[in-house]
Amino acid sequence: MAEVILTDVTKIYPGNVKAVDAVSLHIKDREFVVLVGPSGCGKSTTLRMVAGLEDISSGEIRIGDRVVNNVAPKDRDIAMVFQNYALYPHMTVYKNMAFGLLLRRKHGLWDNPLGALVAPGAWRQARDERREIDRRVMHAADILGIRELLQRRPKALSGGQRQRVAVGRAIVRQPKAFLFDEPLSNLDAKLRIGMRAELKSIHRRVQTTTIYVTHDQEEAMTLGDRVVVMKDGIIHQVASPYDVYERPVNRFVASFVGTPPMNFLEGNLVREGAQLIFDEGDNRLPVAARHRAVLERLVGQPIVCGIRPEMLRPAGGGEAATLRVKVNVVEPLGDRTDIYCGTARHAQLICRVDGQTRVDEGAAVSMQVDMERVHFFAPGTDGRNLTLGDAA
Ligand code: ADP
Repeated sequence: MAEVILTDVTKIYPGNVKAVDAVSLHIKDREFVVLVGPSGCGKSTTLRMVAGLEDISSGEIRIGDRVVNNVAPKDRDIAMVFQNYALYPHMTVYKNMAFGLLLRRKHGLWDNPLGALVAPGAWRQARDERREIDRRVMHAADILGIRELLQRRPKALSGGQRQRVAVGRAIVRQPKAFLFDEPLSNLDAKLRIGMRAELKSIHRRVQTTTIYVTHDQEEAMTLGDRVVVMKDGIIHQVASPYDVYERPVNRFVASFVGTPPMNFLEGNLVREGAQLIFDEGDNRLPVAARHRAVLERLVGQPIVCGIRPEMLRPAGGGEAATLRVKVNVVEPLGDRTDIYCGTARHAQLICRVDGQTRVDEGAAVSMQVDMERVHFFAPGTDGRNLTLGDAA
């Protein structure tokens, strides 16, 4: 087990494509870190550089106490699980899991009756190596609950079982770190959720440093001890799932994390008597006391108010902060309902309310805004979260 430390790691592909731009990241021993971001943000390249499958253009990667920039992939002591888990079809599950270890044996050559006759010492060592491999395969099979599948071939397994074997192959190696590249993408939605929970519990049992790449923010949030949100080869935020959701550093992170995504209203800050108001154009929302200190100096300037869908709900009447919206589409999802609505200036807003709430499509409704929990961002798609430093 080991920490993995990236320092100013950059990858420039031929044609001057800067896929990863001076990424620094300190992954702690036994930590489960998820790299997440839209397609093309550089997460796979980052992982592949840790694995040694891509050269590093500049910077340093350290696994444990060793700089691995110039260490071959097979000598990095890592195990990688890919989306396309590529089991050997003609081998049993047992053999698939044991294969890498069998290949790496020091005395494998003597593991036969002739070896016992010609070189009994080497034969005994070969036997011990084989026993150790057997122990590791059985141990991994127990962790994964696939003991009864060991003699099957991959074609007799379900997608989820195959994925488990691929993970088993990584576990038996007892590597310093696991690297996962979108390992669940080939599974159907229900299985993916099941495997997600399973990977989490496997990590708890195996306790190996893990770097996991996905484009699925929900997968990232549910799996990671920490989540690394990337865009355009740059890390935007590294934080716990709770913090990337509750304390996004900028508008990009806020928009990427959470479904349905956060609503962004562009407007201006104005002063009205003792109050600070966010003026959306047609709606005026009073800024909560906790946000006032930091926003005071921005009066008169354009600003973006970020409101999560669950921070909006039909107003009962008399609330101080409401948005007048027209309801376009109502999507009942059982336990909850998503309401697609809009103001004159912001035509595409989403509210998420509980399944009991009834609103009619086409109706004009007042939505109460939880101003304590909204965020304010500087203008622009990556605008900084201005309200992070506020008193909680
Ligand atoms: P992600 O995994 O986040 O989808 P990648 O790391 O695969 O992103 O790619 C990051 C960027 O590098 C993209 O712009 C992609 O087109 C580019 N890229 C990836 N692999 C290569 C390659 N072998 N040659 C040139 N450009 C590449």
